[in-house]
Amino acid sequence: MSSNNVKDSEFQAYKDDSRIPCKYGTKCYQKNPQHHSKYKHPPKGEMVTYNLQLTTNMANLQLITLINITIQQLLILSFN
Ligand SMILES: [Zn+2]
Repeated sequence: MSSNNVKDSEFQAYKDDSRIPCKYGTKCYQKNPQHHSKYKHPPKGEMVTYNLQLTTNMANLQLITLINITIQQLLILSFN
């Protein structure tokens, strides 16, 4: 998908940017050119997807950990 490649290169450019990441990220409404020359901003839309993927992965990880704990408890119970 060519549209995905454009987004990837945009995000790569953001990551390679040596400026300080703006604490407001995509939510930043600063129009001040001085602000934009000092702070970098993630490409619109991309950061949201990125965060969502991260959250999903974290949720999966917690679920797997939870299942592992349950199996361990079951094993301990069956041995007692
Ligand atoms: Zn900003």
